[in-house]
Amino acid sequence: MPNQLAPNQVIVGNVITMEPERPRAEAFAVAAGTVVAVGSREEAIAALPGAPVQEPEAAAIVPGLIDSHLHLQWAGLKLLDAFGEAGPGSLAEALTALDAEVPHWSREEEPTLAERLTALRLIQPVLHRLGLVGVVDPAVVPAEMSAYIAARNRGELTMRVVPMPHPDVSAGADAAIAALDGVGARTGLGDELLRLGGVKVYFDGEGKNGNALRREPWPERADDPEGRGWQRLPTEEFLKLSAWCAREGWSMGVHVVGGGGIDAVLDAWLKIDAETPIAGLGFTLIHAYLEPSPANMELAARLGVLVAAQPSIHWRNGVNLEGRLGPGARTANPISSWLGAGVGVGGGSDGPYFPLDPRLGLWQARTREVTDGDAPHAPELCLDPEQALAIYTTGSAALSLAGGRRGALAPGQAADWVALSVDPLTASPAAVREMTALETAVGGRLVHAEPGATAGGAR
Ligand SMILES: [Zn+2]
Repeated sequence: MPNQLAPNQVIVGNVITMEPERPRAEAFAVAAGTVVAVGSREEAIAALPGAPVQEPEAAAIVPGLIDSHLHLQWAGLKLLDAFGEAGPGSLAEALTALDAEVPHWSREEEPTLAERLTALRLIQPVLHRLGLVGVVDPAVVPAEMSAYIAARNRGELTMRVVPMPHPDVSAGADAAIAALDGVGARTGLGDELLRLGGVKVYFDGEGKNGNALRREPWPERADDPEGRGWQRLPTEEFLKLSAWCAREGWSMGVHVVGGGGIDAVLDAWLKIDAETPIAGLGFTLIHAYLEPSPANMELAARLGVLVAAQPSIHWRNGVNLEGRLGPGARTANPISSWLGAGVGVGGGSDGPYFPLDPRLGLWQARTREVTDGDAPHAPELCLDPEQALAIYTTGSAALSLAGGRRGALAPGQAADWVALSVDPLTASPAAVREMTALETAVGGRLVHAEPGATAGGAR
């Protein structure tokens, strides 16, 4: 375990704050896990006289990265399955195993609590080495929730986790509501390490399998009456569940990929918004990459609906999608259009079923390269460096229901930061893809330090 930083400390470096009023600073001061001052070196030192001054040998210090869609326990189990309790020998080995297109758990029996705890012990350091400080785990069953609570209580949770409960909707909305209502818990319960997220619902299928719900039939299924794709929950049931969530203060995250599905989900939310305004609840379209319309974007912005976007999915599936839908599919995952319409977007990976390395996500969002592609897909939709970093910091913080406390380096924010080997706002996308997280801190405590990085030293 790396050395812990002192509870009060001043961190000096090329600080990228992600705060519009002061985008760059020379230093920040941290007291008891919270940033208390940001500014010049002198200003930060004056805020905490006598506190140790740390100066990581980094090209930039940025807010810790947050993945707004990462199945953390599945990723951990995938490592446990591949390597056993000893875990991977290197970051490269870990990433190769995580990226393998195999199930995350090959054994017949469900993982035990002990195995889940081991899985968490294996995966968290890997992700901290990539600069990640938090995730939204976007579909958590009771055994997974129990493992998070156990890890937290043992002091073994170093990643901030927002688990989204995933009720069974196969028996209809009433049964799901009864299950959720159980003990009266709501989104927001917990603390800054482990906080209950929104209700996860699957509305349609997937682009890769040609069953996301489109407005038109999939070309390969033009004669099939259900050729537009799957709708996994009837609209009336979805409306009932959404209305209950809004009234009761539950957030929601809805897996919806295709334009026909996005139309239906936003239409339902527009209806319930008339009775219970949903702005501020963090209602989220998860994926929403296939043919979202300008009208969808305008409505999402008006309702305060957020989007969880995954550059990794476009990277992996862009060519497959173009094969099914033709050149129009090259505009899939138009993050810049959502942002341009004023919609909050969180960056993420959908790991471990898609590459979970945030460096790949930052690179893909800026290049729109696709695996085996002849050229980038719709390069006019590339994000600029600030936008790319924003979706993984302030954007994902909002999807973690922690805007104002996470995602930026400003007074009152948690001291979650990562010291990087390059400045991600000036470096080329290729350099960002290869950068190193030299040190990663969660709440002012180092959770990763490369050998030779200096901030962990007792000076
Ligand atoms: Zn997922």
